[in-house]
Amino acid sequence: MKQALIIVDMLNDFFLENAPLRVPGATKIVPNIKRRLDKARGRGEPVIYLCDSHHPNDSEFQVWPVHAVAGTPGAQIIDQLRPSKESMIVKKTRYSGFYQTDLDALLQGLGVGRLVLTGVVTNICILYTAADAVMRGYEVLVPQDCVAALSDEDQKFALKQLTEVLKVKVI
Ligand code: ZN
Repeated sequence: MKQALIIVDMLNDFFLENAPLRVPGATKIVPNIKRRLDKARGRGEPVIYLCDSHHPNDSEFQVWPVHAVAGTPGAQIIDQLRPSKESMIVKKTRYSGFYQTDLDALLQGLGVGRLVLTGVVTNICILYTAADAVMRGYEVLVPQDCVAALSDEDQKFALKQLTEVLKVKVI
């Protein structure tokens, strides 16, 4: 089955020191994602970056601090995981990468049946994107050394939901 590497929200506003939504564990997962990125590129597997790209008045900012506003440096992919010419970038405004985006059509066009989900935040965008993927019939793998949450408790909760409820393969 053809597989795609999905890199979720590895953006400056989730990563840099003093970033509005800094995920403490994000630094640790960068080399692990980079390894998978290099491998996917070497094999010619599709790499898709799912990136928050908010309107300045997005209703999500009632829940979270202002982050990843379209066109700002905070919405840029971190330097360490810079996309290549072949990379595909899908912009999203909600937790699920499938919500009002062309991700599903893109994956179908590529003939992809299996998604490897990496990035942040494990119990938010990773979890809800995984849920939508599973409901659409995709096989989903989550390498646990490639995802990070805001706390250990959130990480544990999300990995449990992924494994037990969604039957995602946490590897
Ligand atoms: Zn957001």
